[in-house]
Amino acid sequence: MYNIKAAEVKPSITLELSAKAKKLKSDGKQIINLTVGEPNFNTPDYIVKGALEGIEKGFTKYTQTSGIIELKEEIVKKLKSFNNIKYNSSNILVSTGAKQCLFNAIFSIINDGDEVIIPSPYWVSYTEMVRLSGGKSVIVDTSKENEFKIDVKSLDEKLTNKTKILILNNPNNPTGSVYNESELKEIGNWAVKNNVIIIADEIYERLTYDTKHVSIASLSEEIKNNTITISGFSKTYSMTGWRLGYCAAHEDIIKIMNAVQSHTTACANSIAQYAGYVALRDESKYNGITNMIDEFNNRRKKAIDYISKNSNLTINSPKGAFYIFIDIESLIGKSFNGKILNSSIDISEVLLDEFNIAVVPGIGFGNDDYIRISYAADEELIIEGIKRIIELEKLAK
Ligand code: PMP
Ligand code: GLU
Repeated sequence: MYNIKAAEVKPSITLELSAKAKKLKSDGKQIINLTVGEPNFNTPDYIVKGALEGIEKGFTKYTQTSGIIELKEEIVKKLKSFNNIKYNSSNILVSTGAKQCLFNAIFSIINDGDEVIIPSPYWVSYTEMVRLSGGKSVIVDTSKENEFKIDVKSLDEKLTNKTKILILNNPNNPTGSVYNESELKEIGNWAVKNNVIIIADEIYERLTYDTKHVSIASLSEEIKNNTITISGFSKTYSMTGWRLGYCAAHEDIIKIMNAVQSHTTACANSIAQYAGYVALRDESKYNGITNMIDEFNNRRKKAIDYISKNSNLTINSPKGAFYIFIDIESLIGKSFNGKILNSSIDISEVLLDEFNIAVVPGIGFGNDDYIRISYAADEELIIEGIKRIIELEKLAK
């Protein structure tokens, strides 16, 4: 009766579990919510004021589908100064969150049966976007031993004449892995040689710790012409609800994505666009973003330290984003309070039902031996949440 592809799509497990935790909290349960990746900071004041200024100036109507010129020009400047990529405003498409950029890109490239290489663990929405676009996800497994990173050898093994896209999420959600320049160069050159378009999801680009972010499109003109770079405002500026993201790519693909977007959502919210323009324009006068990054780094260090000193749980020390992917393989097959722990979903359910802590099961990211916690929450809550996970580790028999 319904569209088969749409009917098969699973709802976003991150958003679903976050909503469940919020509901339990509002029902009076003392839940620690370490599910969703959403900074627990307010949107900076200067951006909120920017939005009000936008309303007063009349930025309340449809804009060009691709976004207001003021914002696109600021994005061009930021791409040059932060990402070291030279583009002009005709290479930019502003959308309703990085999520829409990703969907626009995948939908605009894929024909029925085309293959998209996705390194696992992967962010929950990629495979579902590929499914909706009629494509086939081809998963490349990675492991803790290689810092959850792919290399050219693993890509070669998955390459077929149907391979169209490689999705590269750097820094990675959920593992926090960050690629260095030489790793990116090899992957970029592989993609150029094999005519595979790279969708570079760099939404966490500003959130790297003790390491520098490198944009794959900055590494050569050939790689740049073969890459769609995606970022947004949700993470860096605590603007998740404003729904503002953008992509930068060759004009040919931007034109197609622009046409697709013009029939789906048209422009991104005009007030959010103006606020985004102010966020970039005035960022240098504001040090709140550096403070936020320092605070995430502080929580990251404390959380890693606590886990390694107090438990046998193993993790891959994350270098970016704000998640810790915790290996729970040692708990699989054990039981707690009569409940057998057969999967990451069982473990997440026991954590929620018996320990009042909400986490995301690794299976949502393609790996059932892990759970993900987000450290975009208050420090005491993170440590208390980790204590409860460790309690389950000790009590499960
Ligand atoms: N990519 C990744 C890896 C994410 O974790 C998210 C979630 N915020 C997005 C894209 C989408 O972000 P946005 O809020 O800009 O749609
Ligand atoms: N990307 C964030 C997360 O993984 C936000 C939720 C979502 O859009 O999936 O938790």
